[in-house]
Amino acid sequence: MKRTKKNDFDVIIVGAGMVGLTVASLLKDSQLRVALVDRNEDPTINVAEEHDQRKFDARVSALSASSRMIFKQLGVWNLLEEKRHCDFHTMHVWDADGTGSITFSAEDLAVPRLGTIVENSLVIDALMQRLKLKGNVELFCPCSVNSLDEGEDWVTLNTKEHQILRAKLVIAADGANSKIREFSNFRVREWEYNHHAIVATVKTEMPHQMTALQRFMPTGPLAFLPLSSDTGAECKEYSSIVWSAEPSYAKNLINLSDKDFRIELTKHAEARFGEVTDCSSRYLFPLKQRHSVNYSKQRIVLVGDAAHSIHPLAGQGVNLGLLDAEALSNEIRKGLDAGRPVCDPVIMNRYQRARKGHNLGMMALMEGFKRVFAEDTLAIRWLRNFGMSSINDLRPVKNFLARRAMGLDS
Ligand SMILES: Cc1cc2nc3c(=O)[nH]c(=O)nc-3n(C[C@H](O)[C@H](O)[C@H](O)COP(=O)(O)OP(=O)(O)OC[C@H]3O[C@@H](n4cnc5c(N)ncnc54)[C@H](O)[C@@H]3O)c2cc1C
Repeated sequence: MKRTKKNDFDVIIVGAGMVGLTVASLLKDSQLRVALVDRNEDPTINVAEEHDQRKFDARVSALSASSRMIFKQLGVWNLLEEKRHCDFHTMHVWDADGTGSITFSAEDLAVPRLGTIVENSLVIDALMQRLKLKGNVELFCPCSVNSLDEGEDWVTLNTKEHQILRAKLVIAADGANSKIREFSNFRVREWEYNHHAIVATVKTEMPHQMTALQRFMPTGPLAFLPLSSDTGAECKEYSSIVWSAEPSYAKNLINLSDKDFRIELTKHAEARFGEVTDCSSRYLFPLKQRHSVNYSKQRIVLVGDAAHSIHPLAGQGVNLGLLDAEALSNEIRKGLDAGRPVCDPVIMNRYQRARKGHNLGMMALMEGFKRVFAEDTLAIRWLRNFGMSSINDLRPVKNFLARRAMGLDS
């Protein structure tokens, strides 16, 4: 293995997922020499399948207004708008075990949309397109970080591909099972949600009318997120589902025949969009809550899922990660303007202060939702249903919750 001067960087970002790519894009055109590395040869690769000659990625995200603003600033949003995306204007949330329900609507909030559903691979592709335009960021793919040495002046990364890269600062954007976090011994608080999430693309008998659904069941929540069938076309009958359930139940569901799965899905969604008439392959994701006690340590800093991973029930994971990316790049730029080195503890502390409380607040809220809806006692069920119906009638409270989830208020 050889190290050459050309492999010395100010910053190395490990992970070219949505968050790592966003940090790289936000640091583009700074005075820093930046490397972005990913273990995949092509980070845009997706879990896509053909439906009626359209290929949908099974992994989608509900992007909030704050994520939209970040992507607009990067010139990425217009690329996404040219591809498939679906704004949703209404969201129905209801309790399978009673009468409680809440309906959020863009009209009540006087906003153009509650959020936008995008396929993850299309977001990565758009970010890549922008990044590949001339700049100070070098891409290394495939490049899988195998080990890390923290020296006084440099962090050295050794890769499976026999490269040695050095940086003054390493930004770990390598996801929930972050190796960088592990190699650097960050202390992590983690606990099992005792849920696996099943994701798939489905076609329904009735059009979704740009509506998202979330049904809370004692076994876990089931969400339908509307997809756009084609660029610029009215959204019609495709949705992405995220069905979270206890692991053994989730495994039973995933092993059902296509027909039986569609029947179960139709039943559990109370046929709100009629029958589920088609379903892609199903993918299973074990869910775990993790939160790193500190977001930085000497020359290493964590962003996105490497710093925190959260239940997908409110679709907040990547939205929080993009806010991390924005906060970190802002602090780095401010620090550089003030003549500080890129890994200066002042920069890192400011970043952590800006993000940790907000991330923890959202994680606690999601944990609360999950626990309250898993509770089967009569008193809690009554309170839950009463609470939901009351919130639905209390417009200021309902709007406050919706604005937080949309990233309009923090
Ligand atoms: C079922 C499900 C549904 C979800 N729905 C939503 C939603 O609607 N809205 C939302 O906001 N969030 C959602 N999320 C969460 C969201 O998907 C994650 O928060 C987001 O993908 C995290 O992005 P990231 O870039 O931090 O990490 P990742 O997407 O995990 O990217 C990490 C990258 O690092 C690379 N990598 C890993 N290890 C190494 C290594 N050793 N060397 C080099 N490269 C490496 C990987 O190849 C990868 O490209 C959902 C999550 C799940 C599981």
